[in-house]
Amino acid sequence: MASIFTKIINGEIPSYKIAEDENFYAFLDINPNAKGHTLCVPKVEVNKIFDLEERTYHGLMEFSRKVAIALENAVECKRVGMAIIGLEVPHVHVHLIPLNDMKEMTFQHKVALTDEEFKALAHEISSKL
Ligand code: AMP
Repeated sequence: MASIFTKIINGEIPSYKIAEDENFYAFLDINPNAKGHTLCVPKVEVNKIFDLEERTYHGLMEFSRKVAIALENAVECKRVGMAIIGLEVPHVHVHLIPLNDMKEMTFQHKVALTDEEFKALAHEISSKL
């Protein structure tokens, strides 16, 4: 069965899209650690990051870097943190999290945003690409 992220990439489930190219897709995390928390996903559905083909792994890092720079220019933060976990969704994804405090990397501290706030954030971040 297709992963929830494959369904997002295929447009079967809505997302707050930030960027897309031939091989990768970036969108806002629906349960963010901080405002602007973004996920970068390879279109190929692979569970664990180090099982990606080397070319896709490096491509994902390159794509994530571009998105992270846009994110840092769009959202007030000290820096953008990166995490790769995958315990919830078995489809490789890079978490990019605008950081002002260490608690934002714990995945225990969450922020609630309205639909309008998600839309405005996605627009602001993608405008910096
Ligand atoms: P993990 O697999 O532990 O790295 O976490 C999966 C992440 O995906 C969590 O931060 C979720 O909030 C996020 N997530 C799950 N479903 C969606 C969705 N439909 N749209 C955006 N983010 C999602």
